[in-house]
Parts: sequence; structure tokens; C-alpha cells
Amino acid sequence: MKAISIKNLYKSYPGVDAIKGISFDIEEGDFFGFLGPNGAGKTTTINCIIGLAQFSQGNIEVFGKDVKKDYMEARKFIGTSPQEYNFDPYLSIADVLIYQAGYYGIKKKDVMPKVEELLKQFKLDGKSEVDFRKLSGGMKRRLTLARSLVHDPKVLILDEPTAGVDVELRIELHNYLKKINKDGKTILLTSHYIDEVEKLCDTICIINEGKIIANEKTKNLLDRLDDGHTEIITDKVSKKIDLDCVEFNKNKILVWNRGKHHLKEVFAHLQKQNIKVIDIKTVKDSLQNIFLRLTKK
Ligand code: ATP
Repeated sequence: MKAISIKNLYKSYPGVDAIKGISFDIEEGDFFGFLGPNGAGKTTTINCIIGLAQFSQGNIEVFGKDVKKDYMEARKFIGTSPQEYNFDPYLSIADVLIYQAGYYGIKKKDVMPKVEELLKQFKLDGKSEVDFRKLSGGMKRRLTLARSLVHDPKVLILDEPTAGVDVELRIELHNYLKKINKDGKTILLTSHYIDEVEKLCDTICIINEGKIIANEKTKNLLDRLDDGHTEIITDKVSKKIDLDCVEFNKNKILVWNRGKHHLKEVFAHLQKQNIKVIDIKTVKDSLQNIFLRLTKK
């Protein structure tokens, strides 16, 4: 089943074509990384999915429900954690969660067990009566995530959920997201921490200037666009030979994966000269490098 299906989506603001005909699907249970440089169109796409932006062309379904025609049902499937805080600063933490549940028609008495569970889960249980404005940045992030989960949605849309949080909290949030994804929640994640997306997401979709430029399983993308290499350190300087994608640099030889991978020829060449290999390591390309190459202006 498709959790989210976007077909031929266009969205313009006055003077800006933010989304230029994008299509992609997110399968139920996927951990989907949505990447792109600043201004690429990530938040606009999310806003079209959740009903905060009106799109001019295309259609979007969430678990088969059209976000325009069946918007009440479509929205119930989604929990959102926006990039910017949009809380009433004078509401207490518990009230933030209770009011949110109210938007989905859940009464206070019915949601209280869930509120208590989430406050405990996000280590906010001692603070349920504290106003939002008095929380630290990390607590605000945790509350944003707790709020997105209060009506037990099937899909979570997280727009930079770890922006500005410390390393320890980031690791905690990663572990929590991995767990709920394993338990069945579909997650769409945007983040500028590309290592985080590489670590967490099964699928990576890259948007650039309002167009999708990559959308595939993380492993496929890394294998397909890998520009890694093997580094060989030798005890003596080797004679150079002219091989495609092989660099000789004093007693270091780099054999790039993008070429024909001439490792065998390089080793035979070294053996002929009686040169010993002292060290050898494979250097993988990172998603960050691939992302930069794909989105470079
Ligand atoms: P970031 O990583 O910086 O959050 P993004 O990928 O989420 O960027 P969007 O916020 O979707 O990008 O912006 C896409 C384009 O649409 C940008 O050119 C932006 O200036 C423009 N834009 C976004 N929101 C509005 C708006 N409400 N009115 C006018 N233009 C907008």
C-alpha cells in the first residue's frame, strides 16, 4: 500500500515556481529521506501534503485518500513536526498535547493515557504544567515530536526534527525514530544533516530547484553514484602506468571505483617491480559528497 502518492505536482507562489511537476510514492513502512538544498521545495511539498499550501496542478493521496477531496480523512493519517515552532507560548506542555488531540476529535479524557505515555517517553513528565515559552530548545524539539504522535498517525512527516539539538538528544531521537519505524510507522524525514539521513532512511529522494533528481533505495543510490576508491601504500615509489582512473602519487596509488577498477593490473605491476604493499584501504563515498555533486549549481 502506498502511504503517500504524489503525481505531477506543481506549486507556484507569486513570482516563484517552487514545485515544477514532481511525482513520487512513499510505501507504507518506509523511512523516506527527502533531501534538497535551501529553497529546493521540501517544505512546500510537505505543506501541499498536509494542506497548508494550495497547489495549482497535480494530485496527492495519503493511504488512498485525496488530500483535497477527502482532506479530513487524509489528515488523520498524518502527524507533522514542522521546521519552525508554531505553539502558543503560554500553553502548558500537557495542554499543547491535549489541544492537538482535540483537532482530531479526541476528547481530553480519552487522550490522557496517551499524553502521559508521550510525556514519559520524551522525558517531559516532570514538566507537564510548565509553559511552552519556558522550555529549553531541546525540550521544545521533543514536545514537537510528541505532539505529532498524539493522535497515533500512520505517517510521520518530520521537517528537520533535529535542527539545533545536542548530540546526545539527536542520538536518542534517532533511536526512537528507528524503533517506531520498525513498529510500522511510515516516516518522511527532511534534514540538512545528511549523515543522519544516510543512517536512518531506506529510501532517498532528492529535490533540486523544484524537480526530483534522484529517488531510490539508499543502498542503490550509494552504489550507483559511488565515487570511492582504494588506496594502496607501497614501500617504494612505483613506475607509472597509464590506466584509466588510477593515480600514482609517490608511494600512494589511488584506484577509483568509477573506472574499470584496475586493481588486478596494479597489483601485477607492483609485483613485477618487486614493490611491497604496506597498507591498503577502501574509501567509500559519502551520501554528502553524492548530494553535493548532484545539486551543485
Ligand atoms: P529550506 O531547506 O531552506 O527549508 P525548502 O527546500 O524547504 O528550503 P521551500 O521553503 O519549499 O524550500 O521553498 C521553495 C521556494 O519557494 C523558495 O524559492 C522559497 O523562497 C519559495 N517560497 C516558500 N514559501 C513561500 C511563500 N509562502 N511565499 C512565497 N514564496 C515562498
